[in-house]
Amino acid sequence: MGCLTQYEKYNTWNEINYFITILVLTTSHISMADEITNYRLHINKINQEACNLHITCSFSLNFQDADSVSMNFGGGQEFSIDNLRIDDKEFEYEYNLKSKNIVFHKRETQTVQVNMDYDYTNLSAFFIYGEGNAELWESSFGEYYYPYVPNTYMNVTMNVATPDSLSLICSYPLKSAHSKGYSGRLQNILSQSLTLAFIQNDAYQQTREYIPNEIFIYQIKDMECSDKRYKELLQLTKASIDFFNRIYGEDYISKERNVMTLPTYLFHNGKGFSNRYNIGFISASQEKFSTYPDIYPLVHEIGHRWLGEWTLLIDDGEPGAYFIKESLNEFMTLMFIRQFYGPESYMTQIEKCRTEYNTIKGTPQDEPIVNMVENNNNTIVYRKGPLVLDYIAKEIGYEELMKVISKFYQKYAGKYPLKYMDFINLLNECNTATGNKLDLLLSTQTLYL
Ligand SMILES: [Zn+2]
Repeated sequence: MGCLTQYEKYNTWNEINYFITILVLTTSHISMADEITNYRLHINKINQEACNLHITCSFSLNFQDADSVSMNFGGGQEFSIDNLRIDDKEFEYEYNLKSKNIVFHKRETQTVQVNMDYDYTNLSAFFIYGEGNAELWESSFGEYYYPYVPNTYMNVTMNVATPDSLSLICSYPLKSAHSKGYSGRLQNILSQSLTLAFIQNDAYQQTREYIPNEIFIYQIKDMECSDKRYKELLQLTKASIDFFNRIYGEDYISKERNVMTLPTYLFHNGKGFSNRYNIGFISASQEKFSTYPDIYPLVHEIGHRWLGEWTLLIDDGEPGAYFIKESLNEFMTLMFIRQFYGPESYMTQIEKCRTEYNTIKGTPQDEPIVNMVENNNNTIVYRKGPLVLDYIAKEIGYEELMKVISKFYQKYAGKYPLKYMDFINLLNECNTATGNKLDLLLSTQTLYL
């Protein structure tokens, strides 16, 4: 059954309300984005030790109706930021180590010019990627290495100076000029989405392919995968992108969404790691990529282009945050497997989910999925979540559930704040009472599916 066929009158009302809500949201978005203008970020990696950067940052700050403006700033450790210099003639500020933010207080001037200069030590990068040949700078790991107002959109003029031994991959494309580093003007980017990867040139083998769009692959020299695995990567990347393009009704590359290229693959040899989708690039373990029996987790990362932390702006700590940001995308990954390899392969994956869930079933680790407000229980988020969605799909049809998830993306991507109930309500609208059923399953501790 298609959406919006039932309750037509009800929905007309709903859409009018929705339209008004969008107007209000759009207006508030613009005003929020207007707070910060002329944002310039200069990052220097020359003569810096591992996991260190020197950063110069400047912007105009318009207080608008507020007395103060708070920006995320700083890292998990007390000594992330060193030698902080701020010219504070026109305003007051306080930098809060614990809450990792910097608060600017208005004096008289409505719009002030902020100039900051500091050294930043990224200990997450040190612990996660240490002793490897790449160094990743990720706000999503709690390293706020540049100041920003979260969940707003901003323009950034950016410039990164690198020594000859390093190359840079950024979440958004930058121009590189020989011996001058990298630069670019990034338009309307989600404020927290700037991720950097510095890679050691002599450690990596770079290849370029066309599928048919250009794609780059970085592999650790002497750890490169087999030809067979390499072909599999290209084939799965192309097939999954085609699949998701169709399901979500929106191409991978989209100017509107600020996704300008296919993802660069960065296979690294950091000692602790997780696979990551960072808009312009996907990072994953070289060893796993070369040796594991399958590379479905990379399809999951491709899927994050549509469903994940950069589009579904639900805050950590909110009920169902990781059902929204991760379980939905993992289920869609399984939907790709079902379509590409057939129902039998899909059932094999679902049975794997069941087997893994059964190992914690009824134990204290077996929490309701809706309680996953931080990404700290893989079995619940990536196994129990898809099991529940499979149960719902069997009731209403796989195509129908995919349609609802696609509609959810189209309606809510990029909008802040997003709540778990937005998904439940949409499912109820499309399929009477199914949303409530899903909500009940997600709120139940031990499931017998
Ligand atoms: Zn994920």
